[in-house]
Amino acid sequence: MKKLYAVLGDPIGHSMSPIMHNDLFEHYKIDAHYLPFHIKNENLEDAVKGLKALGVGGFNITVPHKSAIIPFLDVVDELALNLGAVNTVVNDGGKFIGYNTDGHGFLRGLNAYMPTLDGKKVLILGAGGAARGLYFTLALERPMVIDIANRTLEKASSLIEACPYSIASNAFTLEEAGRRLVEYDLIIQTTTIGMSPRIAELPVNVTNLKKNAVVCDIIYNPLETLFLQEAKLKGASIQNGIDMFVYQGALAFEKWTGIFPDIERMKNNVLQQLGGKTC
Ligand code: NAP
Repeated sequence: MKKLYAVLGDPIGHSMSPIMHNDLFEHYKIDAHYLPFHIKNENLEDAVKGLKALGVGGFNITVPHKSAIIPFLDVVDELALNLGAVNTVVNDGGKFIGYNTDGHGFLRGLNAYMPTLDGKKVLILGAGGAARGLYFTLALERPMVIDIANRTLEKASSLIEACPYSIASNAFTLEEAGRRLVEYDLIIQTTTIGMSPRIAELPVNVTNLKKNAVVCDIIYNPLETLFLQEAKLKGASIQNGIDMFVYQGALAFEKWTGIFPDIERMKNNVLQQLGGKTC
């Protein structure tokens, strides 16, 4: 019998996950289908109960339910619990187990650009939900330092205080981070600057970028933000948010099926979906 997989969010119409996962189910000849469900906050608990009654194989959770889902799950793994955010649920014999594959998805994608974080100085721009996932996951890799710069300085400080893993970190304003940019081997841009309508803005000025730095922007629409364009002109290796998106999906697919899927196939699929609307 066909197995059901799903993604819950509000809004959900823009999600590229259904096309990505359905293509993989077909490719690996797995009798399953992945559907998007538009779920309002007040209906989340009922939706989770419904998915359990239906015996789904698993599901993803996206904005704004990544934290709100936690009380409705049977088990939540340690990293997801520390993050306070779940993006993937596995149905393990009737028990819903929550994971967060965002940070590890980013790390897997980063591997091609920076195989190890040993001795590296890392700067995260932004202190929102995505920054939290990346900060905690990268902290477990023990780079030399992970500094956080944010428009609202207190949020960067709170994030550092909240991290349960031991890592050297400082909080800066975006302006201060811009002045110190030369110190960093890896810069990860997680603010919404660079996305529509802020496509002509930069989170920090790249004048002081270190030669040979790796610069990542987790935004994937547009594929190359102004920040990435300017960093490339300064000689940096650049990476957009496609890898993170694709790898977080690949890790979810692996948890559900035991198969680590073909990443190039997934990337091409996502790029095709973005075709013509990259702004
Ligand atoms: P969020 O929790 O709302 O955080 C937004 C961040 O952007 C905060 O640090 C915020 O600073 C900053 N920001 C917003 N407007 C700003 C402005 N005008 N000037 C300076 N800073 C500003 O959002 P999120 O969930 O972390 O998502 C952030 C981005 O990551 C989005 O573009 C999202 O699409 C992308 N993302 C990509 C992936 C992927 O798989 N590639 C996954 C998740 C998210 P304040 O704290 O000062 O408000």
